[in-house]
Amino acid sequence: MLAVKDLEVRYGGITAIRGVSIDVAEGETVLLIGANGAGKSSLINAVIGLVKASHGSVRFAGHDLSAVSCDGRARAGMGYSPEGRRVFATMSVADNVLSGACWHGGAAQREAWAWLCGIFPILKERASQPAGQLSGGQQQIVALARAMSSFPKLLLLDEPFLGLAPVWIAQISEAIHHLQRRGTTILMTEQMARPALKLATRGYVMRGGEVRRSGTVAEIRDVALAEEYL
Ligand code: ATP
Repeated sequence: MLAVKDLEVRYGGITAIRGVSIDVAEGETVLLIGANGAGKSSLINAVIGLVKASHGSVRFAGHDLSAVSCDGRARAGMGYSPEGRRVFATMSVADNVLSGACWHGGAAQREAWAWLCGIFPILKERASQPAGQLSGGQQQIVALARAMSSFPKLLLLDEPFLGLAPVWIAQISEAIHHLQRRGTTILMTEQMARPALKLATRGYVMRGGEVRRSGTVAEIRDVALAEEYL
């Protein structure tokens, strides 16, 4: 479903990632693991189109995305939950969630809202509250629900566990399991190897802007756990 080939992202004189190639097949959950500054967000942001690659290609469902805008990629079936959640603080929880599917009609939005409230009851309880007033864990649920509201084919999750207490990590993990059972394809980044490895089928270990190791979860577990301490 997703094929990233020989990707390079630069910020002025800084090369954030170089020569990165990854694949994600339909129905898989693939993990990008690495310490701070490894290049995980740069890769995810190049996939969704928030940063431009200086070299290489991103193909999604067989199509080259180099000329496709960020919102074109969302309309093509990518959902994105950014690092640090980035909810719209003054907008209500419901508006935040539905902003992820703003190009859909009312009926599809109502269907998405009912589905998401079934998974995350807190959305209904806090529907009209400004999202900025929620706790970090609750905001992560809003960000995840926003990414899911368009029923994406590929969900991109950038550090969904960052800064969260174990109780919220468990809830977010349960929601990811739910999506996996529905067959959603997921590419997620994490620094916290332990909970992330429980969710993934395969992974890539990144360091210094490059992929250092890839394989099944069993094959990368030791390297991923070592990376967590760096
Ligand atoms: P983190 O978990 O800290 O976000 P990461 O693995 O996601 O780390 P990136 O955020 O992709 O890594 O950063 C990769 C490299 O690119 C780092 O050296 C970082 O300092 C640099 N970098 C990232 N964003 C920018 C930017 N907007 N301008 C300049 N350098 C950047």
